[in-house]
Amino acid sequence: MQKKNEHKTICSYCGVGCGILVEQDSKGNISVEGDPDYPVNKGMLCSKGKNLNYVAQDTSDRILYPEMRWSRNHPLQRVSWDTAFDRAAAVFKSIIEKHGPDSVGFYVSGQCLTEEYYLVNKLTKGFIGTNNIDTNSRLCMSSAVVGYKKMLGEDSVPISYEDIELSDCFLIAGANPAWCHPILFRRIENHKEKNPDVKIIVVDPRKTQTCAAADLHLQILPGTDVILFNAMARWLIEKKKIDRNFIKKHTVNFDAVKESAFQLSLKKAAELCGVSVEDIKKAAMYIGNAKAFISMWTMGLNQSVIGVSKNVSLMNLSLLTGQIGKPGAGPFSLTGQPNAMGGREVGGMASLLAAHRELGNPKHRKEVTDFWGGKEIKSEPGYTATEMFDALESGKMKAVWIICTNPIVSMPNVHKAERALKNASFVVVQDISHNSESTKFADLLLPAAGWLEKDGTMTNSERRISYLPKVIGAPGEALPDAEILWKFAQKMGYHGFDYKNTSEVYDEHCLLTKGTEIDITGLSHERLKREGSFQWPVPHATHMGTPRLFTDYQFFTNDKKSHFNAPASLYNKSEITTPEYPLILNTGRVRDQWHTRTKTGKVKRLLTHIPDPYLEMNKVDAYLRKLKDGDIAVIKSRRGTVRVKVKVNFDIREKVVFLPMHWGKVLNNDFGRANNLTNDLVDPVSKEPDFKYCAVEVAKY
Ligand code: SF4
Repeated sequence: MQKKNEHKTICSYCGVGCGILVEQDSKGNISVEGDPDYPVNKGMLCSKGKNLNYVAQDTSDRILYPEMRWSRNHPLQRVSWDTAFDRAAAVFKSIIEKHGPDSVGFYVSGQCLTEEYYLVNKLTKGFIGTNNIDTNSRLCMSSAVVGYKKMLGEDSVPISYEDIELSDCFLIAGANPAWCHPILFRRIENHKEKNPDVKIIVVDPRKTQTCAAADLHLQILPGTDVILFNAMARWLIEKKKIDRNFIKKHTVNFDAVKESAFQLSLKKAAELCGVSVEDIKKAAMYIGNAKAFISMWTMGLNQSVIGVSKNVSLMNLSLLTGQIGKPGAGPFSLTGQPNAMGGREVGGMASLLAAHRELGNPKHRKEVTDFWGGKEIKSEPGYTATEMFDALESGKMKAVWIICTNPIVSMPNVHKAERALKNASFVVVQDISHNSESTKFADLLLPAAGWLEKDGTMTNSERRISYLPKVIGAPGEALPDAEILWKFAQKMGYHGFDYKNTSEVYDEHCLLTKGTEIDITGLSHERLKREGSFQWPVPHATHMGTPRLFTDYQFFTNDKKSHFNAPASLYNKSEITTPEYPLILNTGRVRDQWHTRTKTGKVKRLLTHIPDPYLEMNKVDAYLRKLKDGDIAVIKSRRGTVRVKVKVNFDIREKVVFLPMHWGKVLNNDFGRANNLTNDLVDPVSKEPDFKYCAVEVAKY
């Protein structure tokens, strides 16, 4: 039974979305523990979740009141909320009048609550009249979004965490869930411990902690994933390990995939991937013999100029084997942020429309325009994340409003992002922490309420929607992001933003989903508080949610079939290695840090694991450069340099190096910021950047 001062909420970090019990004692101190009744984590929490009480209680870094400057030569000064809203509205109105609505934009975050995402999307597309609303989810999941749409008709994760315990084969590609989705990985480990015949295949150029549980590690060369998945497809077809009945009845385009898979022999594919033919055959055999097969992936596939090709070639394996719509089976993208899914559901990206409607569909646009009662929604996508910074740098965009994200550390080719914000006429940063490097670029800095200080909903990786209550007051004059947005909209003179609370915003969002494939008209804040979490769709008030999609094999495409897709590209050729830049840099996360460390960076316990940025490098490559473990090295790409200590081992492939993405500029120099080096080329369809493939050289400092 829930205690009086105990509140049920959700972890604010990764997309696993663990349930947390928060208790506040009579002195106001907060403690957290895993919620034993929450179906995702059943009481477990990883190191980051366990230490959230420190983050919530340490307000030393918090932005406490609005700050503003009249010109870049002046320091930020404290102002009232009234002054801040007046200035923001006056500048936005003046820029829009002079340069048109496409000269402004919003860059938001997969950490925003669904209600906040809904409001900023409505404000931008429905009232300002531009589709320039994008999010850091573009850097994370947009290749998976396009993959799902191409294969299944909509952006729809078909399965649930409960399918983990029903599966007997996992292919984990371009992901290190042991560190980055720890509680989900514990479930896989526990399942394997109880069922040793369960097979785990890991595809990664690095031997990560995830490989400790693997039956087979395919340590491929970076950028060769499509060749590998195609080779597995070829073996499955040749050995007749495919589900002919499923393919015939429920799919189209099989021949195109067969043709793609048969372009290369297994021998040639193995050579290009840098693995053995035997290992490819073994992996394909595990998949072909599985009763229930799940593929899981994250950034190793998504963050690529061929991210969509990587996604479809992996998902083809599920369709070939008929492993979808049944217990323990299906493709399962893992989101890195707590509400990346919620943002996608409200259509909070430059290329999306509310409730999985299509921006390019005039009927869909009219439905949303009529519902909001504002301006006619434009058909062309707005600027995506990298395009927005390009437009700010070139002067096409004049003003940007950044919410809950830190692009000065997280954007690829980050020097460009710095130039873009310097060149912008007006930058609003709405955040909780002065630790965000992006706050230094603000003309207007707005203090936002953080986790436990506001209420709303989030959707985790398995489509599970949960309510997060307000438990404590926000420090200083910080306001919930939703309230900041609706007050700004009111100041702009837009009608339809006179909300009294986030519950009203949520009801409006739910109503807009009516009749769509993600219909959640059966939900409300009250129901979520009363009955707990639900997986969409939840189309009426007594509906209990939908753990698994496509159990009737009716997909969300027009013809109701799942669509095989031949990958458009076989391998990543974005940056050619040369004698000057002979190594490929891969970036990613470490276990106890999260994103740009504005929260995890202030928890001492989390700094004991890996306190500083480092470069992981193969011993052979280190030897050739006269580098030893612990030496400081300079990493150089065509875009910039970084200095860090090297960590030398045989866990990473030769000619590949790895640098964590969390650190910004330390000591005001280029120590550790990985994105000084990375490439801002993007996948042509998903517009997701190529974080995982950047040619570099390393030398002793
Ligand atoms: Fe939070 Fe993810 Fe850890 Fe769960 S696994 S406690 S959601 S960081």
